[in-house]
Amino acid sequence: MTVARIAMKEQDPAARGRNFDEVPRGYTGDEAKSEAARCLKCKKPLCVDGCPVNVKIPEFIGLIAEGDFIAAARKIKETNALPAICGRVCPQETQCEARCILGKKGESVAIGNLERFAADTERESGSIDLPQKRPPNGKRVAVVGSGPAGLTCAGELVKAGFGVTVFEALHEAGGVLVYGIPEFRLPKAIVKKEIEYLEALGVKIVKNFVVGRTATVDDLFNDEKFDAVFVGSGAGLPSFMGINGENSTGVYSANEYLTRSNLMKAYIDDPSTPIMKGRRVITVGGGNVAMDSARTALRLGAEKSMVVYRRSEAEMPARAAEIHHAKEEGIEFNLLCNPVEIIAGENGAVTGVKCVRMELGEPDASGRRRPVEVRGSEFVINCDVVVIAIGNSPNPLIPNTTPRLKVSEKHGTIIANEVDGRTLMQDVYAGGDIVTGAATVILAMGAGKTAAYSIAADLAPLP
Ligand SMILES: Cc1cc2nc3c(=O)[nH]c(=O)nc-3n(C[C@H](O)[C@H](O)[C@H](O)COP(=O)(O)OP(=O)(O)OC[C@H]3O[C@@H](n4cnc5c(N)ncnc54)[C@H](O)[C@@H]3O)c2cc1C
Ligand code: SF4
Repeated sequence: MTVARIAMKEQDPAARGRNFDEVPRGYTGDEAKSEAARCLKCKKPLCVDGCPVNVKIPEFIGLIAEGDFIAAARKIKETNALPAICGRVCPQETQCEARCILGKKGESVAIGNLERFAADTERESGSIDLPQKRPPNGKRVAVVGSGPAGLTCAGELVKAGFGVTVFEALHEAGGVLVYGIPEFRLPKAIVKKEIEYLEALGVKIVKNFVVGRTATVDDLFNDEKFDAVFVGSGAGLPSFMGINGENSTGVYSANEYLTRSNLMKAYIDDPSTPIMKGRRVITVGGGNVAMDSARTALRLGAEKSMVVYRRSEAEMPARAAEIHHAKEEGIEFNLLCNPVEIIAGENGAVTGVKCVRMELGEPDASGRRRPVEVRGSEFVINCDVVVIAIGNSPNPLIPNTTPRLKVSEKHGTIIANEVDGRTLMQDVYAGGDIVTGAATVILAMGAGKTAAYSIAADLAPLP
């Protein structure tokens, strides 16, 4: 048995900082089989408990070990419709891999890498099998938003015999998977394939349709005669710091910056949308969104891409792998450092960010040590672009146009039972970031699936 975990080959850091190609290269068949052979096939596989959608982990890994890669992909798809995506972006190190028994004394099985390998092998083989569907039950469900929550809900419902239409505000389906997470972490061709799979299953996707503007939730019931609505509209409203100079030219929210780069392809030579390719770029924040922005800035040609974060590395919410990749690529980290003003020249364009040094005090409500300003420690970092990546909240459009849908006072998230996805409005269900606030792909998928089961139980219970 191979003891050491098989590392996945990656693009060289010096080269990849200047291109948008994917960083990890994937396993070969032999590497996947060797890694799969490390799995102990535990009788009580704790890894499965760590997966929010309960992928049958030892079973699919066993199939890889036997060399039946396509069967492995199909095993994963029994509970997870988007495995090539999850294999790439799920925080396995805090979920399935954190529970793997091998991790207690050494390195856990590389479950995410194996999931990605199986899904990629199936896709590249062209031998994609559609699962059995229940006969049509005559009920129609409208799904608002085509992110992981909406797509998962739609996929489960269509398999259960519902007619499903997804309404998406943007001109591409996929939510954060297409407009937020960059190409070098999640190639858009892969997201497209997974969406095509759902369309082949029978999910109808209507783009450029803003629920709350093109039609309200009530219109979907009254005019379009849908029997239920699932709201999976995400948390796409960026937060700002509220400091002087934030309106200067060259200051972006991470949402806008990443959308211009990912969705509008502003990085190609003749793009339909512009982006300021700064020479010295500061990204403010310490999460995945900040790492994605700082690494994007580098690929857009920045001579220096810097992260400014008010706590220390231990408190950074980004995945360890993303911080590691960013450091390898030469991103500069200014930790325990908080922006207090954005400085602009006479023409209104950014010239720098004034920051103060911070030190860590007692833990706050989040359990992390509270950053406290060090008096008189102001200093300026010169830059020509600033990207603010300090968080997102739900867009209020749908609740504002649907008075019977209640939202939480503090965060503006739709109030829904997280166990079953039911909201306080009859026949309306919700899940994903719109309910939890900004979270993860797999949690959004889990919520979409849960809501689909509730819709099926409420509208078309099996005899
Ligand atoms: C840059 C970035 C990087 C991330 N990296 C990771 C990662 O590595 N791993 C991870 O697990 N998570 C990551 N996340 C978080 C993860 O992407 C989200 O938690 C997840 O996408 C939430 O899914 P969702 O379906 O709830 O919402 P979204 O993915 O936000 O999708 C919502 C969709 O609804 C549409 N919509 C909104 N309002 C309307 C309306 N009124 N009418 C019609 N359509 C509407 C939006 O256009 C969007 O397409 C990242 C997030 C960002 C922003
Ligand atoms: S816990 Fe680890 S070793 Fe056990 S079945 Fe899961 S992946 Fe295999």
